[in-house]
Amino acid sequence: MFQAVRGTRDIFSPLVEEYVRLEAIARRLAAQWGFGEIRIPTFEEAGLFKRGVGETTDIVEKEMYVFEDRGERQLALRPEGTASVVRSYVENNMHQKEKNCRLFYVANMFRAERPQAGRYREFEQVGFEVFGDPGPLADAEIITLAWEIFKSFGLSDLRLSLNSIGCPECRGPYREKLETVLAQMISQLCEDCQNRHQKNPLRCLDCKKCSEKVRAQAPAFQLCAACQAHARIVEDLLGACGLTFVNDPSLVRGLDYYTRTVFEISSPVLGSQSAVCGGGRYDGLVELLGGPATPATGFALGVDRVVEARFKEKPPASPPLKEQAAFLVFVKAGPKAVEYGFGLAQRLRQKGVSVFCSSATDSIKSQMRQAGKSGAKYALMIGDDEFSKKQVLLKNLQDSSQATLSPEEVMTRLASPC
Ligand code: AMP
Repeated sequence: MFQAVRGTRDIFSPLVEEYVRLEAIARRLAAQWGFGEIRIPTFEEAGLFKRGVGETTDIVEKEMYVFEDRGERQLALRPEGTASVVRSYVENNMHQKEKNCRLFYVANMFRAERPQAGRYREFEQVGFEVFGDPGPLADAEIITLAWEIFKSFGLSDLRLSLNSIGCPECRGPYREKLETVLAQMISQLCEDCQNRHQKNPLRCLDCKKCSEKVRAQAPAFQLCAACQAHARIVEDLLGACGLTFVNDPSLVRGLDYYTRTVFEISSPVLGSQSAVCGGGRYDGLVELLGGPATPATGFALGVDRVVEARFKEKPPASPPLKEQAAFLVFVKAGPKAVEYGFGLAQRLRQKGVSVFCSSATDSIKSQMRQAGKSGAKYALMIGDDEFSKKQVLLKNLQDSSQATLSPEEVMTRLASPC
């Protein structure tokens, strides 16, 4: 027997409806905030992610699904969306078409992480990217947008953490000082940090194994005046929208093209994998991927975790009865009666009524049980008797009342329930 591959899963109702609801909210707010949707490919050249996400990141070093296609090209299933969106932005010369380009995507991502609750090898992200705007307002806008999506979805318990990681100018001297400290404590570092302490020392600050001891010895980080001013305006703008946040100096994105604002939103109900959204400014990435120097900022939210958080905060109530829905029950029905019922069901569906049915060969008891489970308010009972009199027995499954009606009366009753 085949089983879903480790780290992947099937998603059923009522979770599926919540995925659809969240995606609809994201699309609605995207339109309201001026973002156009982009569909990105499921796989790209592996080199795009190596360059765009960073050679020394866990994603690229350990988690990417890389494969060679029949043309001996090195490809990778997308582990995240930003690199693809930037690739598309550059490839399609979008900077020439629109000064301020705003794109969003809804896409599944693939990372070979160790699976656990809230951490999957295939998961869904909704991501938003703004190109061409260097100002703090764009940062504040994307953070506020992420927050609005969560609020509209019904999450109430959220934490927003904010930090600025400065620009290459203020990071340069810091990087050197940090490298010296790391070299002194090299024997205490994990293997990954030993390897990256020169290539990418900032990554050691958010290493799951070493961050605590590294931070205890790391020099204090001083933002330059311009970065300080940028950070203050972002904070003031968030305050103007009533958003509360904590400044978290431990929040870093240890890649050179990230600049200034970084943020994360987490949900305390989720346990260890509590981050539901992460993002920030990446002013160096477009250029790094071959485009003109273009400031950019964005975020990605993890749909699976957001849905889980919603279920944990508020377990779903049993769904209300479907008013405009009926379950077709065949009661001792010969072929002609089945055709009659089948035709009526089709006409009802064309009027917007939901009609469910099982197999006409099931027992009445089984059909009634299925009708009860379906959530439909009515059962449409049809047998040879009803067929010969051109009638239908309509049973209200809520109060068990029933009436014998003509098909036209059924149409009127169900298409516009009182
Ligand atoms: P990242 O692209 O790593 O910044 O992740 C953005 C968001 O995607 C996170 O805040 C999570 O909500 C979600 N996410 C990342 N990795 C996973 C995963 N393996 N399984 C489920 N959700 C994830």
